[in-house]
Amino acid sequence: MHEGITDYLEVMQLAGVSEVKKESRRQTADDRREAVVERKSTKSVVAVAASSAGGLAPPTFAQLPPKSVAVSPDTKAGQLQLLADEVAQCTRCKELATSRTQTVFGVGNPDSPLVFLGEAPGADEDKKGEPFVGRAGQLLTDIIVKGMKLRREDVYICNILRCRPPGNRNPMPDEAAHCRPFLDRTLEIIKPKFICCLGTVAAKNLLASEKTIGALRGKVLDYNGIKVVCTYHPAYLLRNPAAKKDTWDDIQLLLREMAAEKS
Ligand code: URA
Repeated sequence: MHEGITDYLEVMQLAGVSEVKKESRRQTADDRREAVVERKSTKSVVAVAASSAGGLAPPTFAQLPPKSVAVSPDTKAGQLQLLADEVAQCTRCKELATSRTQTVFGVGNPDSPLVFLGEAPGADEDKKGEPFVGRAGQLLTDIIVKGMKLRREDVYICNILRCRPPGNRNPMPDEAAHCRPFLDRTLEIIKPKFICCLGTVAAKNLLASEKTIGALRGKVLDYNGIKVVCTYHPAYLLRNPAAKKDTWDDIQLLLREMAAEKS
């Protein structure tokens, strides 16, 4: 079978498509360009254009819906996947939507009581489609694994922005505002008890604060009933290793709060 067709069928199956409408010989040429397929388990309908007249040619990857692993709206994972599918189509920030390789939604355990919140994807994350996978990500993983004695997959990790700002510049205020509903909905689904803000951008945006990270760190703050501990961004720690001690203090504070919640 044509390799493109195999990919197409595989992705459609993962997206829950059980049937592809066969086109009628009496359809017009315009009709023939479009085959509509329906997701079995959700309300969403995905229109896939057939690129050649007279045949259901495999669509390009740009036309395919994102690979969905769970689309049941009854589970947190399913709700997050549906939201991630929506984010993947977002074009609210023209510059980011045209320069990104892909959106970077979030990763981890949807039932985790703890969410780590970063700034925005960098080059490595844009390439891989997963937050915190570059050098700063490795340090975050060390903090989680070696410092907190948790597994990376036990927590949830996401960013203020779901797209990489070109040249790794800071997110613009309008970009953060465009992406905010996606963050809010992520938090509504996960319902974490704790958020750890990594760096100034995450802390200032989440808390709508003008304070510096130096002023926000070292204490337990509140965001809509969720306990928030802010600390330095791992990329800052790579440039300023002396600040690791402060971050370790912040992480210990977070661990104490998490332990108190359990008891
Ligand atoms: N820095 C961030 O803030 N987020 C990432 O995902 C990677 C680096």
